[in-house]
Amino acid sequence: MKFGKVLLIGRPNVGKSTFLNNLIGQKVAITSPKPQTTRFPIKAWLQEPRGILLFVDTPGIMGKTQDNLSKQINQITLRTLNEEVDMVIYMIDHTRKRDFEEARVLGIVRKLNKPKILVINKIDKQDKTFLPQYEFLTDEFPLVYKISALNNTHTKPLLDKMFELAPEKNPKEIENLTSELYHIPYPLINIDSKIFIAELIREKVFIMMGEEIPYTTTVLVDDIKERKNGLLYIKARILTTNDRYKKMLIGKEGWKIKEIGAYARKEIALATNKKIYLDLKIETDPHWQEVFYG
Ligand code: GDP
Ligand code: MG
Repeated sequence: MKFGKVLLIGRPNVGKSTFLNNLIGQKVAITSPKPQTTRFPIKAWLQEPRGILLFVDTPGIMGKTQDNLSKQINQITLRTLNEEVDMVIYMIDHTRKRDFEEARVLGIVRKLNKPKILVINKIDKQDKTFLPQYEFLTDEFPLVYKISALNNTHTKPLLDKMFELAPEKNPKEIENLTSELYHIPYPLINIDSKIFIAELIREKVFIMMGEEIPYTTTVLVDDIKERKNGLLYIKARILTTNDRYKKMLIGKEGWKIKEIGAYARKEIALATNKKIYLDLKIETDPHWQEVFYG
């Protein structure tokens, strides 16, 4: 599976937020307020069967402080970025003139020694273009994609390229890397993220069941659907390795599973800012570990 960290960089208003929101599906792209275990705040993450892409943010590059770009970026940030990210998406807006700020962004991009992709955004807008001013960049950046973040057009080849550039990781590494994600504090964000929701439920199992059960238990989210009335329907299963554990998880007259479900539902609602219907079941599957990691 692929796991890539992507730095999305560009001066304000080139369309970075629009790009993330439309790429990941309307529902996302918020910076976690207090990053703890990740070195750079995660702006958004995209999860697909082929892998995971993390879009990272860093103060002074993508945040509100962007206007102070030159003040914010320093050698340490640069070095850390060079260590941490796997690729750089440099986004430009051809409908606006090149300016001093644009030149600064380019200066930073040049100092990053990771694969770089030049993304020319807003190609839906052709009435006003300063494209000739940016032409020289296409010599410097062999990977160029023209997209409309707003209409989400031509983004698929770009996405494929990002996955191509993302390093391949084995399941154990993926597990370690994604465990970082689970510690992102609320309010979290990506309601499409099955991993996140599964982990949130699993965390409740840990809390409610004590020491004995967790290591024999995992949670799979099978389905997430947004209903017309705004309700978020989530279908999930707690898998455990034997019937004895299953009984414990269900509890007397089902009160334990109800408690776990209620607790999880409350937090998912908080994180997604949606009303949640959580369809939670418990199954015994002695082989889930093989299925999950196999
Ligand atoms: P950011 O500051 O880089 O995050 O830029 P935003 O995503 O906030 O976008 C800035 C403005 O550009 C917003 O008004 C967007 O609607 C607009 N915008 C973003 N992408 C496109 C695009 O592909 N086409 C057009 N026409 N407008 C876009
Ligand atoms: Mg933005």
